[in-house]
Amino acid sequence: MKICRSLVELEEVLNNFRSTEKIGFVPTMGALHMGHISLVKNSIKHTTATVVSIFVNPTQFNNASDLENYPRDVEADFKLLEAAGASVVFVPRVIDIYPEGIDFSGVMPKTSIQGLNNGNNAPDKNYLHKKEEFDLGGLDNYGEGPRRPGHFYGVVQVVTRLFDLVKPDFAFFGEKDFQQLAIIKHITKSLNYPVEIIACPTLREDDGLAMSSRNQLLTSEQRKIAPNIYKNLLEAQRIAQQTIGNLSEYQENSSESGMTPKQLIELTSIQINSVSGLEVEYIEILNSETLQPVVKWDDAEQIQLCAAIYARPVRLIDNIKLK
Ligand code: AMP
Repeated sequence: MKICRSLVELEEVLNNFRSTEKIGFVPTMGALHMGHISLVKNSIKHTTATVVSIFVNPTQFNNASDLENYPRDVEADFKLLEAAGASVVFVPRVIDIYPEGIDFSGVMPKTSIQGLNNGNNAPDKNYLHKKEEFDLGGLDNYGEGPRRPGHFYGVVQVVTRLFDLVKPDFAFFGEKDFQQLAIIKHITKSLNYPVEIIACPTLREDDGLAMSSRNQLLTSEQRKIAPNIYKNLLEAQRIAQQTIGNLSEYQENSSESGMTPKQLIELTSIQINSVSGLEVEYIEILNSETLQPVVKWDDAEQIQLCAAIYARPVRLIDNIKLK
């Protein structure tokens, strides 16, 4: 496994095999766990060379203490990646990603540059899309969007920059960050990046807690109660599926029962908030494609429940398919 700590090193390594290999790319912020490794393994299965980046991207953090406290351990990450079979790990410096310095501005005008192709022919290696260039198509209107202003602009800025540098054929993202995945698919398509985005299922601990680098920040007490999040998401899924089943029967048998999305959000919030130490920031039931809220179960073909829960000061996100 080659370790590249600068752009020059990355280019040297990639130039050697770009013409012969199918490149898979897994962008991460490090503090790797088996969820990340499942993406790497998926890439190894699909491609002939897997590049993993480790970069704690400052522009996607909304507050300085969250950025400062984000767990980091690159040496442990290297060991996990080597064992998993990654070909290259790219650990860029800030200057490699932001050659002109970091733009922390939170104001994001939505000027569209849809259709512009910078996928394989970025003007030069210092090219970086400006945040104002991205049109997120309203996919950031709910969920994490309003709670973390500017976050997704930081995400797409760093991901497109990494795509321009690595030029992968495939890129692998986790469903754990459901909204991020939808936004990256949208931006890749609208900017014509020649990269296929592969969605990978959420890996969970045995007790159901979604694996996350932030889990390391939980106290042992918090770690014990955190699985209640997924437990309640499963219960919400059960109720939604039962309701949806009853609704389709309703047309035939006139027997109505179950809950509306709004009622289900209320119930799930009450249940999670009743666990001492957990606090719901939001629970939303969204159209999986547009990420707009659904009012009725037949508002969308596919529906996802997305949630952010505090085990203060740690903030955990999770999601589950309802339909
Ligand atoms: P992060 O390092 O948190 O930015 O995550 C890097 C990538 O790993 C993203 O595509 C995440 O969605 C994915 N990821 C994080 N946690 C998990 C998990 N538990 N299961 C699957 N993928 C994950």
